[in-house]
Amino acid sequence: MNVRSLDQSGILAWLREERPERLRELYAWADAVRRENVGDAVHLRGLIEISSHCERQCMYCGLRKANRSLERYRMTREEIEECARTAVRLGYGTVVMQAGEDDALTAEWIADVVAWIKRATPLAVTLSLGERATGELKLWREAGADRYLLRFETSDPHLYRAIHPQRFAGSGHRLMLLKELKSLGYEAGGGVMVGIPGQSYASLAQDLVAFRDFDLDMIGIGPCIAHPATPLGSGELRPAIDPEEQAPSDEQMVYKMIALARILCPNANIPSTTALATINREHGRKMGLQAGANVVMPNLTPVKYRPLYQIYPAKACIEESAADCNQCLRGQIRSIERFPGRGPGGRGAFEVDTDALAAAAPQLVQLEEQRYGL
Ligand code: SAM
Ligand code: SF4
Repeated sequence: MNVRSLDQSGILAWLREERPERLRELYAWADAVRRENVGDAVHLRGLIEISSHCERQCMYCGLRKANRSLERYRMTREEIEECARTAVRLGYGTVVMQAGEDDALTAEWIADVVAWIKRATPLAVTLSLGERATGELKLWREAGADRYLLRFETSDPHLYRAIHPQRFAGSGHRLMLLKELKSLGYEAGGGVMVGIPGQSYASLAQDLVAFRDFDLDMIGIGPCIAHPATPLGSGELRPAIDPEEQAPSDEQMVYKMIALARILCPNANIPSTTALATINREHGRKMGLQAGANVVMPNLTPVKYRPLYQIYPAKACIEESAADCNQCLRGQIRSIERFPGRGPGGRGAFEVDTDALAAAAPQLVQLEEQRYGL
């Protein structure tokens, strides 16, 4: 198999592939590309869901403003700082501050929190606060934010408009904002949901090409689990599509997307997501890691807030404490013979497992002695 054979029709053929033996080949290919380009480290990014308030009306997300049945919260600065200290204690290299598009999170307030984390800890800071003004993004970058996550959800402009109503007249596709983030010096993360009603296989193939063309630093891919209190979840909105063309939102489809993203973007950071763990609690995250992913995002949000950050119901990992999540994920990583990454783990950081190397040192010395007759 050759990456050059992966033009749009080659990608489409893989997305439609169902034969288990062929899919095993695809995942093994992606796993080999992953090992060669980003190594065996799995980077842990501590996720802090800082506010569930949102001004948007995304047609799939439980945090949309029109969902009045959800109790909302906003974390205090002290709570966020405590989460950052926990991240350091647990040995993470990055914290991800994520929220709805919440205007009460003012640009200055976020900049202050970012600056404190950068001053007081060795952590990299990723922001995922939705579509914000250029001046705000610039201020946060100057305060020290390293990365910005903004999934573009789908590259199909018609579907995008249908599921992601504009907040301000004239605001463009999120792909344009990703370009801006890159020009501001952020590591930029995009991504899509898989199996959005109305999303075709061909449109997913186009998404993969967009990942490569935009040279994304991070790529988040997860199943669409439309919240029942949303137009897509209730069935009130049904984008028209030939049923033969509709991409499923099942785990296999997500693994295929992760694998193809890895092959097309060999050194990007690709998480195995919580949404994947939600549709397969026991194996979802590990299978994602074995199909090309190299990042996991343990939850650091205080347990009292977690059920309220309800982008979809029955989300995985909402009852465990930060320490439990940490232990569980480290166990999963070791069980597939990988090792937790150290340090910020930005794009292009290639790490070796120094503990494993140290443990294997006596054997290596012996091998060398045999080989060279010492
Ligand atoms: N508000 C910010 C934004 O939209 O980028 C950050 C938070 S938002 C919850 C982060 C991501 O969650 C979205 O980009 C979307 O891909 C994902 N998401 C939201 N609702 C979802 C759902 N019902 N199923 C799966 N993923 C969902
Ligand atoms: Fe708000 Fe983000 Fe959910 Fe859209 S996806 S409703 S912007 S939290």
